[in-house]
Amino acid sequence: MKDTDWKNYNIETQAIRAGQKRSPEDEHSLPIFATSSYVFKNAEEAALRFTGKKLGNIYSRFTNPTVRAFQERLAFMEGGERCLAFSSGMAAIMATGMGLLKAGDHVVCSRGVFGNTVLLFQNYFGKFGVTTDFVDLVDANAWEAAIKPNTRFLFLETPSNPLIEIADIELLATIAHKHGCLLVVDNCFCTPVLQKPFALGADIVIHSATKYIDGHGRCVGGAVIASEAIIETSIYPYLRTGGATMSPFNAWVFLSGLETLAIRMQAHCDRAFALAKWLAQQPGVDKVHYPGLADHPQHELAKRQQSHFGGIVSFEVKGGKEAAWRLIDATEMISITANLGDVKTTITHPATTTHGRLTAEVRELAGIKDSLVRISVGLEHLDDIKRDLERGL
Ligand SMILES: *Cc1c(COP(=O)(O)O)cnc(C)c1O
Repeated sequence: MKDTDWKNYNIETQAIRAGQKRSPEDEHSLPIFATSSYVFKNAEEAALRFTGKKLGNIYSRFTNPTVRAFQERLAFMEGGERCLAFSSGMAAIMATGMGLLKAGDHVVCSRGVFGNTVLLFQNYFGKFGVTTDFVDLVDANAWEAAIKPNTRFLFLETPSNPLIEIADIELLATIAHKHGCLLVVDNCFCTPVLQKPFALGADIVIHSATKYIDGHGRCVGGAVIASEAIIETSIYPYLRTGGATMSPFNAWVFLSGLETLAIRMQAHCDRAFALAKWLAQQPGVDKVHYPGLADHPQHELAKRQQSHFGGIVSFEVKGGKEAAWRLIDATEMISITANLGDVKTTITHPATTTHGRLTAEVRELAGIKDSLVRISVGLEHLDDIKRDLERGL
């Protein structure tokens, strides 16, 4: 079968089959190529490979068969042309900025992105003369108004963390392209199983593989997926030089994570939806943020844009920070950790953890209240999850 034929397969099949090339050993399962470098037949071949005149492995900072298998598989699943893997999700976002931006450029970013993403744009790209304006994720007019002649890209996550707001990718892609900008979508919460940003007009898709792609909370990794042209001219040269490489071992773990991603996402979503409905009926809960609920402001958009509503539920408890901490501390089974997308249910207090380094004003603008609790719904039995939350409600 030709490599490109995987395009015609469904995502469940791509997740299991795409990207693997058998070695002369005829192994069924994909091996870990634990090698930093590769051997050339002679000096001439070494020279040809280094200049790119002959394709082949050179050095595992930028060419490794296990990592390549992960890249090809994820590219097919997203419906993108080419994927590059990185040492973390943040390294993938860093690479996108380093590859595409120069001093004097401008970025428009959603206010509701991962806390470190805000800090990366503000504190680090800012140091080198790149300015960033932050806007309300769901206010398309604000996005358009923030675009300047020097804006290079718009950057968003949908659903957002931790408020699970939904942006209209198709609309924002149209706005970005009208002004000659690219649209970058961090697809970590949905994964390609629930949402396909390229089909909606996005130019670059980012992943933190640490979350659902691994799915078991073991490895840290990330990826950038884009057109051949963007990868070849902007992202690959940075990876080769900057070196935030994914290890072959981590790629191997993520490859097996991808194999079960579709059925895991379905199970995460089913439990999260049921839990959100249950939480909405609890007297100790003020408000539940979940796009599957009819009172969610972007419920209709979520139905149209995603194949299911996702595995993350946030809610506000009555009694502010104290009540939120009490609820978290009363759990016995659920893990108190900021990680998400794990088979284990996790619980966190965003205002004092993931978003604790933001100033109180920025947090306030982002709508992250002290009473907010975020749950990444795992694959334990739903009744056990409910029972654990009931203790502190
Ligand atoms: C975790 C996360 C990141 C960062 O990924 P790491 O792998 O932790 O570096 C980026 N975006 C989103 C939406 C995340 O949840």
